[in-house]
Amino acid sequence: MSQRSNAPYSDFIHDNGITIEYEGHDIPKIGNIEPKQFDQPEKTKTGKLTQNGLFKKAVLDYKEGNREAEIVRVYEKLFPGIWSEKGFFLLIDYKYLSDGKRKVFRFILEETEFEYKNDHLTENKLKPRSRVIPTEIKKIVWERDKGKCVLCGATDELHFDHDLPFSKGGTSITVDNVKILCARHNLSKSDKIE
Ligand SMILES: [Zn+2]
Repeated sequence: MSQRSNAPYSDFIHDNGITIEYEGHDIPKIGNIEPKQFDQPEKTKTGKLTQNGLFKKAVLDYKEGNREAEIVRVYEKLFPGIWSEKGFFLLIDYKYLSDGKRKVFRFILEETEFEYKNDHLTENKLKPRSRVIPTEIKKIVWERDKGKCVLCGATDELHFDHDLPFSKGGTSITVDNVKILCARHNLSKSDKIE
């Protein structure tokens, strides 16, 4: 959902560490209008579903048992030009509520493990799920590790690695237990930096 370069999402990680909430899309900014003064739309003026509307429909169809949950690959922007792949999530619910000034969509996504096998996306139910690393922590780690693998200094195929298996639970993710590793040094699953 946030592959668009202007993705303005504010995200929110639930206490279980694997469920995140993302805000929906504003109306397009055309001329002098201020999109944040308008309700986030389900449909365009011509009646077509917006991205919000498509996600809402996917949730309703999923809840009625008509389809599997939609798989969403989530990216987040750390700094201008620096994107991190947050991983694959299942779109399981949505809310449409007032933020005090206007109505906004909130989409509820649950982390899941998918991997490409022979060009097919396959859910890996055996792989333990890891806790989602909050964006703010990634930003601090990126600056501390200077955007390089801490072991060899590589600057390509980087991942955020945290030595905190989800199964152990209990401990929260902090700057101290996250580091940047390249693909060669990153043996466990973690969030990829584009
Ligand atoms: Zn390395």
